[in-house]
Amino acid sequence: MLLQPKSIGELTLKSVDPFDYPSIKTNQFSNEEDLNDLVSIIHLFEEFISTKSMQSIGADLNISKGSFCSQHEFKSDEFWRCMLRHISITFCHTTSSCRMGHTGNKFAVVDLDLKVQGLDNLRVVDASVFPSVTTGNTNVPTIAVAEKAADMIRFDKIDKT
Ligand SMILES: Cc1cc2nc3c(=O)[nH]c(=O)nc-3n(C[C@H](O)[C@H](O)[C@H](O)COP(=O)(O)OP(=O)(O)OC[C@H]3O[C@@H](n4cnc5c(N)ncnc54)[C@H](O)[C@@H]3O)c2cc1C
Repeated sequence: MLLQPKSIGELTLKSVDPFDYPSIKTNQFSNEEDLNDLVSIIHLFEEFISTKSMQSIGADLNISKGSFCSQHEFKSDEFWRCMLRHISITFCHTTSSCRMGHTGNKFAVVDLDLKVQGLDNLRVVDASVFPSVTTGNTNVPTIAVAEKAADMIRFDKIDKT
């Protein structure tokens, strides 16, 4: 698993109709470094399974020679790159399509109070506001954002009364 991918996806509106589906481009592997990092991880894994202990239990990569990508030398970097492009998937941690940031940051949709910049009375409170994807799981950070937002909304109300 690549926990901090450098490739960044893109989520845009297709039209002004709020019921129209958005356009989602994952842009997977648009940054070559992500592929390089994963190939390095595979090499590390190859080293690991070639250790005496792992060999003693018959550990091997469960990958067949005759599969697709056979135009490349088996287990070469090019072979792994090809495999990665074919079989890798994004995991269930999609975040940051509506990221939080200081006012004026052109990549920030919401400000530090989770208010949509340029609009009144609209907050976004979910995993989309993470500035970037967390290395660990995303559920607890989402709950933390929600707890913080609940406090901010409560204090806002107290301020106004
Ligand atoms: C298969 C899978 C497994 C996962 N496993 C883990 C795990 O083990 N641990 C972990 O930490 N994280 C896990 N995650 C990630 C975690 O679930 C998400 O990061 C988290 O739920 C994000 O919360 P959210 O509030 O941003 O979005 P969501 O939880 O998706 O909430 C969005 C809500 O909006 C509602 N909604 C959508 N459209 C509308 C609409 N038009 N009007 C009104 N309501 C609407 C939806 O019904 C939904 O209730 C997993 C995710 C998936 C998909």
